[in-house]
Amino acid sequence: MARTVVVTGGGTGIGKAVAQAFLADGDNVVITGRREEVLRRAAQELGGAVSAHACDHTDPEQVEALRDKLPDVVHVLVNNAGGNRDFDAAPPGDLRAVAERWRANMDANLLGAVLTTAALDKLLVSGGAVVNISSFAADRGAGSYGAAKAAMNTWNIFVARQLGGRQVTANVVAPGYIDATEFFRDRRSGEFHAERVAETMVGRAGRPEDVAETVRFLASSAARHITGQVLRVDGGVIPTR
Ligand code: NDP
Repeated sequence: MARTVVVTGGGTGIGKAVAQAFLADGDNVVITGRREEVLRRAAQELGGAVSAHACDHTDPEQVEALRDKLPDVVHVLVNNAGGNRDFDAAPPGDLRAVAERWRANMDANLLGAVLTTAALDKLLVSGGAVVNISSFAADRGAGSYGAAKAAMNTWNIFVARQLGGRQVTANVVAPGYIDATEFFRDRRSGEFHAERVAETMVGRAGRPEDVAETVRFLASSAARHITGQVLRVDGGVIPTR
């Protein structure tokens, strides 16, 4: 049976690879993002049963409008939209600037997922899954971005409890350094790349497909008893005891 899968931020990088993975399984996939042109191009490239809707997930009205365009049943929600807003911000000046930067990362990486999950809650059906894309930054003391992702990890436990009775799972996938996305903008020098690869046990950067396959597993029938968990896809940078 074809499922309906919503992938926020599905026009680029990890989200696009996640969309690709579900499309390969024959699912109907909805991708979202703020830039219409990026979404249009991604939908063309992905082909298959994909539909694209522009939506800023930090804006409650836009999230409500998105919900009204979706079918009555959603099987999988992948809260992937996000990124480190500090990369685009001016250097922090006064306290107002500090507040602005913190709010930007909290909105982009936590509130967007919270609003989207709340909006789609009633559409999620038994056997469904919510997968939240966090980051290994949650465990590395990485300022407002890491704090937002750490908050996502603990909020996920709440979501798992809320949805568990309906047989809907909620898990976090926490990527490490993933190459070939728009995340780092133009910051990825050779030295920067080499330093991050050297931290891994496997001697390579992660690929969007590494994350996508993990998301696909968590949303599959093979993972029905896995919920409330954080699964790192980071090449062993942060091992678990
Ligand atoms: P990208 O920048 O390629 O993808 C982020 C996507 O999210 C874009 O398509 C962007 O589209 C969309 N997006 C961002 N903010 C919003 C918003 N408010 N509303 C709707 N869409 C939004 O980077 P990645 O693929 O690398 O990032 C995907 C996720 O993975 C993020 O949550 C990121 O924090 C996380 N991550 C990435 C890592 C990496 O090394 N690359 C490491 C750890 C975690 P648009 O700008 O058009 O809205």
